Amino acid sequence: MVSELSTERILAAERAHASGVYPLRDVALVRGEGSRVWDSEGREYLDLAAGHGVASFGHAHPRIAAAVAEQARRLITCPGSFANDRRAELLERLAELTGFERFFLCNSGTEAVEGALKLARVATGRGGVVAAVRGFHGRTFGALSATWEKRYREPFAPLVPGFSHAPYDDLAAMEKAVGRDTACVLIELVQGEGGVRAASKEYVAGLRALCQERGVLLVIDEVQTGFGRTGRNLACEHHDLQPDLLCLGKAIAGGLPMGAVAIGARVGELESGSHGSTFGGNPLACAAALAALDVLREENLAQRADETGRWLLKRMRKIESPLVREVRGIGLMIGMELKQRVNPVLKALIERGVIALPAGPTVLRLLPPLGIEREDLERALVAIEESLPEATRV
Ligand SMILES: *Cc1c(COP(=O)(O)O)cnc(C)c1O
Repeated sequence: MVSELSTERILAAERAHASGVYPLRDVALVRGEGSRVWDSEGREYLDLAAGHGVASFGHAHPRIAAAVAEQARRLITCPGSFANDRRAELLERLAELTGFERFFLCNSGTEAVEGALKLARVATGRGGVVAAVRGFHGRTFGALSATWEKRYREPFAPLVPGFSHAPYDDLAAMEKAVGRDTACVLIELVQGEGGVRAASKEYVAGLRALCQERGVLLVIDEVQTGFGRTGRNLACEHHDLQPDLLCLGKAIAGGLPMGAVAIGARVGELESGSHGSTFGGNPLACAAALAALDVLREENLAQRADETGRWLLKRMRKIESPLVREVRGIGLMIGMELKQRVNPVLKALIERGVIALPAGPTVLRLLPPLGIEREDLERALVAIEESLPEATRV
């Protein structure tokens, strides 16, 4: 199937009328299925980016598509001040999956972070937030203030006061950074945008103890790592960690816009009217999330991500190229750090029908759908090898 609109028409319209904030490629995607997407000319691509880690359960999963279509005919919108059957079911499922009892539902990752920051401030009566060097938490003002990358932050100054950044995976630095005015510490367990870097067990355990000791809340951003990505339902499971606030997003609703904050006991009771979102917890997104969580469980996707990820990491490490500095990752979240800029490699990959992502200027990042077949990955490995000039396999 090709698009009814010509490629020229689609690209011209986007170039003329889209905001311009995205580095637009010369490809218009019009259809997806599983680990594949097709462009407006019918050309097939292997999607190792899964729409920035959103399509963890595959594109256009029939079960998720059916749940969305059915719910769209029943009830699309329902504000949080009225209960709803789909939302009620989803809240129970999230409680079962995460071990948390309460959730604030919203519509994106940045909103989940924003919500967690507000709840941390209101719960502690303090304003300080310590985030990590290379951390990424989103683009709205609170989340942006917690984000480290200067290029994202500086054009929008002044940002929210009270934020600071401590080196990642460095407990001594965090001990110094946390002060009397600190409401919360906010980190990712595996930094995604920051280059696919995982925190050590000692760091996370130390952070948990430090926050407990000083009456500071620990906020974990699992927007990218959640729902099977790292080989567990949550990356927290690698650390036996129950944070005070947990931010979820991206894959949560199988591709529909949704975010969530899981709220731990140390946050305490929230006052009615203290936070809210018009679309948060709408029945359409909830129905999609319920179907997505069914797929996660029934297709055993966390375990598949674990197994496929171990295999892929090994295979990636076998690619011998003077351009590769390091290959690292966990589950199906894999980064290949290059000694050069990654953009030419991404371009060469697209020409070979493979979509991948950057993570910072020099890291090639793979976030494929969790059920991706090994033979597809074999094909991708060949494309990666060919795209790294001078690369040879041992
Ligand atoms: C993508 C991402 C966000 C922001 O999510 P949006 O849905 O784009 O707002 C926040 N934190 C992490 C770790 C992310 O990967």
